Amino acid sequence: MPTNPATVPRHIEALRWPVEPAQGGWYTDAEHDAVRKVLAESDDWRTGWKAVPYTDAFEEAFTAHTGAGHAVAFNSGGTAMEMILRYLRLAPEDEVISCAINFVGPHIAVIGQGGRLVLAEPEPVTLNLDVADTERVISPRTRAILLTHWNGAVADVRPLLDLADRHPHPVHGPPVVIVDAARACGGRTPTGARVGVEGWATVFSFESKKLMTTFGQGGVVTTNNSALAERLRRLRAYGGRDHWGTNQMMSKIQAAVGIVQLSRLDDMNSARISRAHRRTQALEGIDELTLPPALGGGQHLYYRYNLLVPDEWAGGGRHKLMNVLAATYGVGSIISDPVTYLGHGLISEHASGQHCPRAERLAARLLCPILHPRMSPGDEAAICDAIRRATADVARTHRATD
Ligand SMILES: *Cc1c(COP(=O)(O)O)cnc(C)c1O
Repeated sequence: MPTNPATVPRHIEALRWPVEPAQGGWYTDAEHDAVRKVLAESDDWRTGWKAVPYTDAFEEAFTAHTGAGHAVAFNSGGTAMEMILRYLRLAPEDEVISCAINFVGPHIAVIGQGGRLVLAEPEPVTLNLDVADTERVISPRTRAILLTHWNGAVADVRPLLDLADRHPHPVHGPPVVIVDAARACGGRTPTGARVGVEGWATVFSFESKKLMTTFGQGGVVTTNNSALAERLRRLRAYGGRDHWGTNQMMSKIQAAVGIVQLSRLDDMNSARISRAHRRTQALEGIDELTLPPALGGGQHLYYRYNLLVPDEWAGGGRHKLMNVLAATYGVGSIISDPVTYLGHGLISEHASGQHCPRAERLAARLLCPILHPRMSPGDEAAICDAIRRATADVARTHRATD
């Protein structure tokens, strides 16, 4: 099995700015008040922890926020994705196309629900699923296209919907477009719509690192498809009266804090976006680094701040830069994320024979130095300075060994 050329230097304990903070962990008095209220009221034995009507209110807030017809809350984004795929009843020959640079979760979900994962290349600027390459791999067996808005850069869903329409499955019709928006909650698509309304179904996660969080775990699916919404409601609650199901409910306290987090989401995202734009200004002019695109109008939330090193630095040079950043300057960075089939045994085995050379090359050039809206301007200045110096250090050693 091929392995990843580089691992994240987590061995460096004394990072001043750690590799991966809980990026959504930003609570105000309003969240604390909501928790106290739920605690006090649930202490009454006649009320307890029954989640409705808090989950109803959270779902209503989410439909209002996205403009989608339905929102269904889950205990995690991962379980939500599993249940969406379960609804499709995938046969072993049924294909689901997804970008090779991804979080492993959605890929494992495709395999777990019995389908065949088909990997496609990212486009090189945002690392989102490349439409032309999706067209290369689409087939009469394609049931779904799984689009992840990569690290907060929102992709255009429309070309994929067109592509799906032109390649209907002989039995099931056009493949559905499933959007993984775990890293793009609150974003806007190129049409100006909120993430969550375009496509067949959109999955959001409120895990601790995400743009908003419901105590470190939680998820929501939005959809305009009533049949899917109704089925998801049954699946997460033991199947209703007749069907298979399990317990994947969001808790009362998660929903209560989610309502507050959602009301603050735009402010939290704006703070992150301005920090990222200022960082881009500060790093402009460093020849070796390709900076993330500055998409306006909420089309990039900078869930992570992607940097690409030069092609000649792919792998070793990138790893050296991460190590210098950590060891000399105390700045954590992460490879977010490697090509899934190189980083996970099950995916590697399932996808054996599939190769995405462009994805492999881009992933070997990628690093994401820590970015958080709650860092002080001084922290941010020090990190930019460290990136500049560390890049120069690595460039010098590269020239010396040429
Ligand atoms: C976090 C994440 C998920 C999974 O969400 P959980 O709520 O942690 O299960 C799925 N896809 C992407 C891209 C993610 O970042």
